[in-house]
Amino acid sequence: MVKENLSDVENRIKAACERAGRERSEVTLIAVSKTKPVSMLQEAYEAGIREFGENKVQEMMDKYDEMPSDIHWHMIGHLQRNKVKYLMGKAALIHSVDSLRLAQEISAQSVRHNVETDILIEVNIAGEESKFGISADETIRLVTEAAKLPNIRIQGLMTIAPYVEDPEKNRIYFRKIRELSVDIADKKIDNVCMSILSMGMTGDYEVAIEEGATMVRVGTGIFGERDYELKL
Ligand SMILES: *Cc1c(COP(=O)(O)O)cnc(C)c1O
Repeated sequence: MVKENLSDVENRIKAACERAGRERSEVTLIAVSKTKPVSMLQEAYEAGIREFGENKVQEMMDKYDEMPSDIHWHMIGHLQRNKVKYLMGKAALIHSVDSLRLAQEISAQSVRHNVETDILIEVNIAGEESKFGISADETIRLVTEAAKLPNIRIQGLMTIAPYVEDPEKNRIYFRKIRELSVDIADKKIDNVCMSILSMGMTGDYEVAIEEGATMVRVGTGIFGERDYELKL
C-alpha cells in the first residue's frame, strides 16, 4: 500500500510542479511516519524515500536506530528544550523552532557536540491560537537574534496551515509565508539563508507547491490514517 500511495503522491507532486512551472527537483518530499511502525518506514525506504519526518524525539531516536543510516530525519514537532540534546547529529533539519530560547538551546548543544544544526523558524501564519509557531510580525526579530548564535544555520521557514476541507483556502497563507521569506532574504542577514519553505501536508501539499513550497510533509497520504491509540 505504501508503495502505491507513494507513486500517487509522486504523480501529484509532478503535476503541481508542472502547473507552477517548477522543476520536480525543487521540491523535497518528506514522508511523515509518526505513529507508524518501522515495517512501514521500511516499505517507503525500499520505494526510494530517504527523508522521514517525526514529531516526537523518543520515537525518532528509536526509528533512527532501527532504520538505515543514509536517511535524513526531520524533526517537525513541537520541541522541548530538555530534549534538544538527543537530536544532535541525528536530526538533519529541525523544522519547529519558534522561540529564541529554543534556538539558544539548539545552539548551545550544537557547540557542545561540535556539530552544525540546520533549523527552520516555525511561523503561525494564520495566527491560530491552537498552534505553535511565532507570529509573522515577530519572525524577522527572531531570525535576526537567532542568526547571531553559533553552530546553527537558519535555512528557511516552516508553517502548519489551518485544517481545511478545501485546500484552496490555504493558498493565501502559503503566499503570505512565501512573501515573508522573500522579505527576510532581502535583508541579507548574516548566517541566514531562506532557501527552504516547508509547507503543505496531505490535504494541501499541491497548493503549497504551486505557491513555492520546497519541502512538503506528507503523512496520511503515504502511510494512511494514524491511529493514536496504537502503541509502537
Ligand atoms: C503529522 C504532521 C504532518 C503530516 O500530516 P498529514 O496530514 O498526515 O500529511 C505534517 N507536518 C507536521 C508538522 C505534522 O505534525
